[in-house]
Amino acid sequence: MKVKVVVVGGGPAGFSAATTARKAGAEVTVLERTDMLGGLGLVAGLSYSNYAYIPVTEAKALGGAELYDVFESITIHSHVEGTPQGGWTKLYNVTRLDSAMQKAFRARGIEFMFGKRVVNIDMVGDKVSAVVCKDGTKIKGDVFIDTTGATTGIEACERLGYGCVSCILRCPSFGNPGGIVEKKVKTVSALNDYGKPTTIGTSVMIAIESVSPEIRRELREKGFVAIPVPKDIEPDTDRFRRAASTHSGVADMQGLKVNMLLHDIGGFAKVVGSASPMYARSLRSFPGLEDAMIFHPGAGARGHLVWQVAMAYRDNALRADGFVNVFCAGTKCGPQHSLIDAAVTGDLAGHNAVRCGLGQPGLELPKTLAIGAYINHVGKMMRTEDGLKNRYGVKVPELLKSLNVFRQDEKEIAREVEKTGLVGVYQAKLVQ
Ligand SMILES: Cc1cc2nc3c(=O)[nH]c(=O)nc-3n(C[C@H](O)[C@H](O)[C@H](O)COP(=O)(O)OP(=O)(O)OC[C@H]3O[C@@H](n4cnc5c(N)ncnc54)[C@H](O)[C@@H]3O)c2cc1C
Repeated sequence: MKVKVVVVGGGPAGFSAATTARKAGAEVTVLERTDMLGGLGLVAGLSYSNYAYIPVTEAKALGGAELYDVFESITIHSHVEGTPQGGWTKLYNVTRLDSAMQKAFRARGIEFMFGKRVVNIDMVGDKVSAVVCKDGTKIKGDVFIDTTGATTGIEACERLGYGCVSCILRCPSFGNPGGIVEKKVKTVSALNDYGKPTTIGTSVMIAIESVSPEIRRELREKGFVAIPVPKDIEPDTDRFRRAASTHSGVADMQGLKVNMLLHDIGGFAKVVGSASPMYARSLRSFPGLEDAMIFHPGAGARGHLVWQVAMAYRDNALRADGFVNVFCAGTKCGPQHSLIDAAVTGDLAGHNAVRCGLGQPGLELPKTLAIGAYINHVGKMMRTEDGLKNRYGVKVPELLKSLNVFRQDEKEIAREVEKTGLVGVYQAKLVQ
């Protein structure tokens, strides 16, 4: 028997979904509308921080987290000291992500196609039988995974944000992003601090060659520099609130409020956290940044992309509501904000797509595991207005503590996975 899985969207969640579907024995095709793999991961750079060891250790014990092997292969700074994210911070070279992902796909026999913007679906009975691309091609499959992110392109950026800001998604060149789920059912938007639909991206990337030689040297040596916010600078609180930064789970970290934090992500200094939306417009007033040039987004300090506006309701197996053979992962399946969330949901969606193709019930991860408890919690919260005002992360300690899955010791985490009987579940070849 054969199972053909079509993954729409070649970002971090799409990568993870494709790898677990392939490991389970499916033929896998990934459709990406642009000319690169990586999605918003191409402007991210912080792969690991805070308590990321909890979900990563679990995911590896389950047999997944291959995205983290890719990040490891392009990591340029490990255990960066002094950051508010803790000594676990790891930074990867964003300029090598697309190439590293392509190599990983080739090594695993995963087909990927560029310039394939999916704009419609074909149904046969109650199942999706094919996706239709803007160029007219139809790609058939047994099961489909929507990992298109939760951005919708220029119209949303104009209506809810600062207009098209020339971000990495490059909509004027490749057309607006958009999922397959919304071709049949309604999607939902996260809410910002004003209670309005939208989240506006925060971090900006500065060309490293445009910062002072001292800061450049420190960045290259240590990976991280904190510049105290000068006293006379007015914070841009409107931009901060439109970015929903209050609820992002990181805004209260003292270091993020009082310092401009720069991270070396490979040729670029990335400004993260509250300082980024609050002080992007006054960047050049910071010592050492007098000549700084914002490289991404292309609109510089004017603003950022609008995201988290088209999320799909789904069950704990990540099957999209209203569909028999469509799964979703990454930002598409909840107001989550990090690469690791994309990795762990992508892993599960890919595995379950193959089970679906074989007529088997989907796997739900037990709530005794951080990943299982997290997927369940976010799925419930995104159905409430209050829940849509928050942002979630599977490595955020307060959330994990409230769900009774916060664990300090990697051996203890591995033991919890053993207790569930699911060690290596993503490695098992299901298609015979
Ligand atoms: C500016 C910024 C900086 C960030 N920095 C960090 C960070 O440092 N660390 C961290 O952990 N997280 C960071 N994040 C969050 C992280 O990047 C996202 O959570 C993650 O990329 C989500 O992955 P995804 O695969 O769900 O979606 P995306 O990354 O959005 O990928 C979706 C992919 O689908 C493609 N696509 C969309 N529509 C279609 C279609 N119709 N047909 C075909 N393809 C389509 C897109 O082109 C894209 O490649 C950042 C986010 C932003 C906005």
